[in-house]
This record gives sequence, C-alpha cells and structure tokens, in this order.
Amino acid sequence: MKKLSTSQIATIDQQHIWHPYSSLTNPFPAYQVDSADGVRLKLADGRELIDGMASWWCVIHGYNHPTLNAALQAQAEQMAHVMFGGIVHEPAARLAQTLVEITPDGLEKVFFSDSGSVSVEVAMKMAIQYWQSLGVQGKTRLLSLRNGYHGDTFGAMSVCDPVTGMHHLFSNILMPQIFSDSPQCTFNTEWDESFISDFEEKIATHSHELAAVILEPVVQGAGGMRFYSPHFLKRVRELCDDHNVLLIADEIATGFGRTGKLFACEWAGISPDILCLGKALTGGYMTLAATLCTQQVSDGICQGEAGVFMHGPTFMGNPLACAVANASIELLLASDWRARIATIQQQLESGLAPARELPNVADVRVLGAIGVIEMKEPIELARIQKEFVDQGVWIRPFGKLVYVMPPYIMGQHDLATLCDVMVSVVKNYR
Ligand SMILES: *Cc1c(COP(=O)(O)O)cnc(C)c1O
Repeated sequence: MKKLSTSQIATIDQQHIWHPYSSLTNPFPAYQVDSADGVRLKLADGRELIDGMASWWCVIHGYNHPTLNAALQAQAEQMAHVMFGGIVHEPAARLAQTLVEITPDGLEKVFFSDSGSVSVEVAMKMAIQYWQSLGVQGKTRLLSLRNGYHGDTFGAMSVCDPVTGMHHLFSNILMPQIFSDSPQCTFNTEWDESFISDFEEKIATHSHELAAVILEPVVQGAGGMRFYSPHFLKRVRELCDDHNVLLIADEIATGFGRTGKLFACEWAGISPDILCLGKALTGGYMTLAATLCTQQVSDGICQGEAGVFMHGPTFMGNPLACAVANASIELLLASDWRARIATIQQQLESGLAPARELPNVADVRVLGAIGVIEMKEPIELARIQKEFVDQGVWIRPFGKLVYVMPPYIMGQHDLATLCDVMVSVVKNYR
C-alpha cells in the first residue's frame, strides 16, 4: 500500500475527520505525527517535540517501549481477540488478579470494558442495579462534584460539571443528577469541616434517592485540574457509609502512580465500593478500562430479579489490551516509580515556580507528576499551541489551564526544557 503524502493527509483531515471537541467548519490545524519514541513525538516535517501530555495521562513508560512492544507482538501471535461470553484467557485472568491485588482493599470483582467513559457507565449501572436488586426503591440518582469530569457518553456526561460539560445543550436528555460544590480546599490546606458542609447537606437531603456518589479522588482532571485535601475524600467515605450511599472512585486519570500514590484513594486511606480504571492501564498502547467492585456490590446485584449484571461489550477483555496492560503494570511495579514521581514533582515545583510572579498567571500548582499553570484569562488554543510546537514541546492547554503530566521516564534535561518553555510561552502570551 502506498502511503498518503503529508498534504493528502492534511486535506482528508480538514474535510472529513472530527478531532476531540472540535469544529469541522472552523477546524484547528492538526499536527501530523509520523512516529514516537521515548518522550518524543516525531512530526512529518521532521521536527521533534518533547511530549508533556503523555497522550492524555496514558503513556507513562514513554512511546515505543521494547517491553510493551514485545508483549503486544507475542499476544498477537497467540490470539488478537476472542469473545468474552463463555470464554476466559490467561491475559484477562492475570490482569484481573493483579488489579484485585494492587487496588485498595475490598475491591474483588473486575468488569473489563473498552474505554474510561464506558467503565463509568458500568459503575453507574452497577450502583443502580445494586439497590434495585436489594429491593430498595428510588435510589437511582448520583451525587457528584462540580468541576468533575467522568467522560463523554450520556451517563458519564450527566455527572460531569454542568457548565464545562455544557449540560444546557442536552438538558432534556441528561439524567438529572445532584451536584455539590467542588472542594474549596487545596491539597495542603489545613482541614476545616466547612469544606465538606455543602456535600454533607446534599447527601443528607438526597440519600433516599442516591444510588452512589461519584468523584475523582484528590485530583479533578479535565474539569479544572484542581487538587483537593485527602481529608475531603475521607469525610466523603464516612458520609456515604452514614447515609447508605455507595462510593464510586473514578481513578481513570489518577491511577497507576500519577499523583505519587499508586491510586489516589491511598492518600485518604479509603476504599471505594466501585472503582474505575483506564488511561494508563495499558501504558497508553491500547484502549482498555476496568470497573472493580466489592463482593457486597456483586452479591447484591446477582441476588436480584435479573440475577446477572446487564452489560457485555463486544471487545470485553480484549487479549491484546490485557497482555499489554499486564506488561505495563509489571514494568511500573518493578521500577522505582515512587522516587521517579517524587523527582518529577520536585522538578516541576522548581521549574514552574517562576510563573507564580507573572501578571497573567492566577495560580501554579503541582502534585506528583502533574504540573499546572492556571492563567487569569482563557487561552486562545491554536495560537499558544503553535508557540509550544515552534519551541519543541507538545503541550495542549484548555480553558485557562496550561498543564503537563509527562511520561514517568522523562529525564531531568527534557523536563527542564518543558518547564522553561512553559514558563516563557506563558510569560510572552498576551
Ligand atoms: C479521561 C477520563 C474519563 C473518560 O475516559 P475515556 O477513555 O476518554 O472515555 C473518565 N474519567 C476521568 C477522570 C478521565 O480523566
């Protein structure tokens, strides 16, 4: 097959292809990537970019990793896919066992699906089916936090921040959920019970109709890149128990070490009833997600009228994806990831600190391998993106947020360049 030329690709792209959150009448330019290796994206025009995004939290070990390549190749020769109805295989069994072992205590049952949003749909359905099976009427709604992000399918969308999720566009279709204020504390703020008061009021008022609380533990990602006190999460767990409401932790972004703990729930020492995983699960190689739940939840669901959990994606437990996930987790656990993340955190803190003084910057914050510069005004994406590319880095801001979450393997020198470019582009941006 003859490869398309650069200009052919650009034309097809402009005429036919949707990109995330994009317009087709007024499309942004898309940069053509030919290949990627380590922490570098190689553009079709020959330029190389240091990748600050890890392809949206996923590529924790870097691109073109020999171990992950080998796992994928070996599995492809064995079997790329087989249906999961009535069939099980080694890669899925190994992955389920590993996830049960490494996630917070009590999460014992694993449901595999194809993407983060679907794992959230599955989690919501589990919670609702749980109460229904127990014969408890009316517990069908969810309580979530403002500034939250849980995905783009309809169920997931209904629990995303109503403003950034543009709920008004779908107001007649979305399931009406309950929202509490997002935590008004930072990660390090000394705890004050007033931080939880709005949440406490909402859960107390609505517990009779709540199947579950859903939140992103400690780090709210795409809804604002906010970090909040683990004590908030601890109080949420207590209040869920007090009011007989399940807790769903969406660790799709935070899982696998990103915040400095293997899972962000560990900051608060809590276990959710249901846990969503995705993004870094396969080291960024394949799309795969998992929803874990406790035996209490699975027993509840299966004792009901249906007797089964009503979900079953075509590509459930895809062997290629499971095999590369197994290799990625093994690689992570065998590495000194805690020290790596701590080093990246220190370097992000010192490297981004100069931005604090800039007149157009509202806040600079770092947690684990996540570095955020929050601007005072929204950014013009296409313009700032080009400046970053011209200076050799890949950073994709949204709203007022210029942020990075680099692959864990990024060396000191590349990370310094990433921080320097981030600060200088922000400084000159007006
Ligand atoms: C990305 C993300 C999702 C959605 O995952 P997709 O794979 O994009 O469907 C859900 N929740 C959180 C916290 C995320 O960061």
